[in-house]
Amino acid sequence: MTHCTHLPLNYSKTESPNILNVSVLWDDNDLILVDCGNPNSIDLLQDALRWNGLSLNKLTKIIITHHDYDHYGSLAELKEKYPHVQVYATQVESEYINGSKRSLRLVQAESIYPTLQDNQKEQAMAFHKKLESITPSNIDGILEPDTDYPWCGGITIVSTPGHMPGHISVYHKPTRTMITGDAMVIEHGKLETANPRYTLDNDKAYQSMKKFLNFEIERLICYHGGVMTQDIRENIEAL
Ligand SMILES: [Zn+2]
Repeated sequence: MTHCTHLPLNYSKTESPNILNVSVLWDDNDLILVDCGNPNSIDLLQDALRWNGLSLNKLTKIIITHHDYDHYGSLAELKEKYPHVQVYATQVESEYINGSKRSLRLVQAESIYPTLQDNQKEQAMAFHKKLESITPSNIDGILEPDTDYPWCGGITIVSTPGHMPGHISVYHKPTRTMITGDAMVIEHGKLETANPRYTLDNDKAYQSMKKFLNFEIERLICYHGGVMTQDIRENIEAL
């Protein structure tokens, strides 16, 4: 049997939740995380896996959809604790994740500093520090866009550039689940495009979203917003 399990990680210290929706694909051979949360997420990940009768000790692979800190922030600590785990990303994203190129999010942030009011600058600097604090991590394998891999009963790496240039989504064939990464989000129960402010190329992001219509999707897992199982095609077409 092969499974795709949704792992909501709640980072909130207050009553209002602050959730990132990691996914895990697993069968007898593999336990694969798709994205791995903010820095210092090992305990949250371990707890979420235990809820599902799983454990990080069985982790074999990590797929990173793109180099935003909330998607790969805990990669270095995971790799340190579980050095045998193989990390995968596209060629484009791997160069940012391993630190050989400067984070595009940092470049974007820096470009808006001159336009900020004084009262916005403190927040901007805190964000900047957060981005710079992420430890780069080596990538063990390059994922080819729009290519099938036999892992966990079969996945398709769907190239969905726009939010970031090497962004991917992951389609798990046996469960007909599309793990969107940040190609789409769910806000207040409604499917939406990713926040245009954080999308580096909105035209491309729109074209990427249309690609989802080529897939038979019974469940959508959005990193921001969670799970959708009803009227998925209608909701995408409406956008
Ligand atoms: Zn992102």
